Amino acid sequence: MSLNPRRIEHSMPDLSPAAASGICMNQCGAMCCRGPLVLRLSQDEVRDFEAHAVSLGVAVRITQAPEQGGWLRFLDHPGEHCPMLDDATSACRIYQHRPQHCRDFPQRPTPGCLISGWKDETESGREQG
Ligand code: SF4
Repeated sequence: MSLNPRRIEHSMPDLSPAAASGICMNQCGAMCCRGPLVLRLSQDEVRDFEAHAVSLGVAVRITQAPEQGGWLRFLDHPGEHCPMLDDATSACRIYQHRPQHCRDFPQRPTPGCLISGWKDETESGREQG
């Protein structure tokens, strides 16, 4: 998904953004762009997101709150993933224009996210045992 070099530096200091992108797309399958998650958008991002959707020919269902931006649920879209995600490659089709929420991810260790610094406690337990 969306990679913020400063965040990656926190969790995996030797990982370049390009290498992290490879992990997201090839190992993880962009889990943060799929499933029961919500993507929050600013007012400007709502407008931009809808314009990108038109140019890509995809439908988006954004719930808007007056003067507070909006949000969309991945589960409301075909394939149950973000409508901007290329399902086959797990690449973001608007990567250069992705919303701030995507740019800031990951902010903390997130279960299943390989670049966030998250550790599988089950695996750790096996190693120690
Ligand atoms: S806009 Fe791009 S980075 Fe953000 S959730 Fe959608 S596919 Fe992922």
